[in-house]
Amino acid sequence: MENIMDNIAKDPNIDDTFKNAIKGPVKTYDTIEAHEEQTKYCEEKKAPHFAPHSNCYSCGRNIYAEGGISVEEARESLITGCPFCHRSYCE
Ligand SMILES: [Zn+2]
Repeated sequence: MENIMDNIAKDPNIDDTFKNAIKGPVKTYDTIEAHEEQTKYCEEKKAPHFAPHSNCYSCGRNIYAEGGISVEEARESLITGCPFCHRSYCE
């Protein structure tokens, strides 16, 4: 059985805005870029940079790895805890 969402995603005649709208928010995982985005976010907002540079202090996983914090999330929000073990960095 064909997946209608896949067909829409592949159809070059369908507008990208619409494709993104049905797909939901885009999540790009890039450990280096996400860290840079979070650093910029903290500088711009004069917010404390809670997040570790790569690996969580508690579980040792890279917080920006796939399934963790996306580049988009790092660009738009302050990271205060681990996405995997939920350890808070601001306590
Ligand atoms: Zn963790």
